[in-house]
Amino acid sequence: NGEKTPKPDWLRIKLTTGDNYQEIKQMMRAKTLHTVCEEARCPNIYECWANRTATFMILGDICTRACRFCAVKTGLPTELDLQEPERVAEAAVQMNLQHCVVTSVARDDLKDGGASIFAATIKAIRGKLPLCSVEVLIPDFQGDLESLRIVMDAKPDILNHNIETVARMSNRVRAKAKYPRSLELLRRAKELAPKIPTKSSIMLGVGETYEEVLAAMDDLRANDVDILTLGQYLQPSPAHMAIARYVHPDEFKQLKAEGLARGFSHVESAPLVRSSYHAHSQVKSAAAS
Ligand code: SF4
Ligand code: SF4
Repeated sequence: NGEKTPKPDWLRIKLTTGDNYQEIKQMMRAKTLHTVCEEARCPNIYECWANRTATFMILGDICTRACRFCAVKTGLPTELDLQEPERVAEAAVQMNLQHCVVTSVARDDLKDGGASIFAATIKAIRGKLPLCSVEVLIPDFQGDLESLRIVMDAKPDILNHNIETVARMSNRVRAKAKYPRSLELLRRAKELAPKIPTKSSIMLGVGETYEEVLAAMDDLRANDVDILTLGQYLQPSPAHMAIARYVHPDEFKQLKAEGLARGFSHVESAPLVRSSYHAHSQVKSAAAS
């Protein structure tokens, strides 16, 4: 009947603003930095910032792609900002981060896709905050292995690249990416640096079936991916791809068990899980495994 399904109870969250939340927001603006926490309107922002985890979005806030689920602006990217790595590191110090996730828009306009800025950001954070673990959530660099090598050589604590959805839905959900290319990138990352844990994420509720999620898990494990996150897709605006269904928390639990049985060292699976949610504990569990 075209009516919108109301949000189930498990997605209604109580937002409690921490003391330093406004302060951190102001600092981000003063340094002209972007966080996914804010741009993607992530429901975990208060919890994560209070737990000293944040996800920075480098290489500007305008993406050369336009995935149908994503709230990031699309258009012609801004000029490359070579000072950005230092400012991210300064912000990480100010937030006293334990775990810093660095991601970017897709910069298909740049020869290395922005890989050298990723590497510089890892090094800058290490230089200023040696105890902070650094996870990079990279774009696919259009399959360019040299770009991947630049990132792996900077030795991130976790290499993350999201397949986002199951094979059948991939073209619909993220038209300019390719499912096999993402799997290959993850496999190559592991070949280049076998000790660095690899990680990927699937959004649920975009039209995939349960069996297709299991098949995607098998694909990830076949490419040696260590860590998996599963969360509910939430439509950022009415102009974005519609939600096909709300996946029940019990189904997320069942999928977590399926993931662990397949050999992932760590699986985060719950409606509000996002790629970087509880990421700090994954560094510890990956190191222990
Ligand atoms: Fe930020 Fe990730 Fe936490 Fe969301 S889950 S608030 S994007 S660190
Ligand atoms: Fe969003 Fe990434 Fe797709 Fe760009 S490539 S539109 S940032 S999901």
